[in-house]
Amino acid sequence: MFPAAFEYQRARSVDEALALLAKHGSDARVLAGGQSLIPAMRYRLARPSVLVDINPISALAYMKEDKGALVVGALARDAELEASPAVQRYGVLADASVVVADPVVRQSGTVVGSLCHNDPAGDWPVAAIVTGASVLVRGPKGDRVVAIDDFLVDSYQTAVVDGELAIEARFPIANGKTASAYYKIERKVGDFATACAGARIKLAANGTIEDAGVAIGAVGPKAMRVTAAEKLLRGAKPSRDVIRAAAEEATKLADPVADNRGSPEYKKQMAGVLVGRALATSFARLGVRGF
Ligand SMILES: Cc1cc2nc3c(=O)[nH]c(=O)nc-3n(C[C@H](O)[C@H](O)[C@H](O)COP(=O)(O)OP(=O)(O)OC[C@H]3O[C@@H](n4cnc5c(N)ncnc54)[C@H](O)[C@@H]3O)c2cc1C
Repeated sequence: MFPAAFEYQRARSVDEALALLAKHGSDARVLAGGQSLIPAMRYRLARPSVLVDINPISALAYMKEDKGALVVGALARDAELEASPAVQRYGVLADASVVVADPVVRQSGTVVGSLCHNDPAGDWPVAAIVTGASVLVRGPKGDRVVAIDDFLVDSYQTAVVDGELAIEARFPIANGKTASAYYKIERKVGDFATACAGARIKLAANGTIEDAGVAIGAVGPKAMRVTAAEKLLRGAKPSRDVIRAAAEEATKLADPVADNRGSPEYKKQMAGVLVGRALATSFARLGVRGF
């Protein structure tokens, strides 16, 4: 199918993009990698009358470490994260970077675009929750930094409102004894997740878990933080039992729908299995014996 007719505008600076977004309001959509928006327009699921193409804004094509965070600009492509040594140091981001779609899609697709799209089966939203990321959003009233849990509002809905542009995502850099991991079950390479999960563990000097991040995706209306699992992990010692208990919390929280990727029962169970794997890998990466 072909998209409905639309006006195409190229923005050459952030200010120009913001002016175009302010002028066209709810009629306008930002075009980043186009890997979600263009298919949605072709299927007439999205019918913006104006596309504001931000690709000419080279100032948004960056990735850097700054003030304790890996900062990913709105035009940093998935493929750049995959190739970055800085990202390789952060398990959950490195793991996710090689399983998002396929290499062709990753050449164009952006991390920030994926967060803005907020597909319930997207990989980056789960990784962002696990790391405690935030998004810098700019609009007519200035800048605001939105914590990822507030940013991901509902299926395909975020905290970005008409007239605003997401500028960058900030992923806190792991410090101290921290490790993380991401797992996804897909029907074939390049497919969206049947279920996916990520975990991050920080160990205290005495070997107990000081902090934890756990999230699941493709098993509910949006990526979900497994708060109950995080709570029981904090203060516990790494063990098979604590992994089992955290995995059970993920299974309980998961609320998937049936589709051609599997039944709700299967997906619920897989959410728990993947949380278990992500936790075990995090412990192994920390050098905890027995994992
Ligand atoms: C064949 C195929 C397979 C895929 N498989 C997967 C997969 O396995 N896992 C996965 O996570 N994703 C998958 N995707 C989606 C892909 O990762 C997209 O690239 C990504 O979700 C969106 O990034 P984008 O830069 O292409 O955004 P676009 O498609 O350009 O935009 C997506 C939405 O976000 C908005 N937006 C984008 N950037 C901004 C911004 N800076 N400020 C405000 N709004 C913005 C747009 O207006 C639009 O509504 C797949 C896509 C394809 C085509």
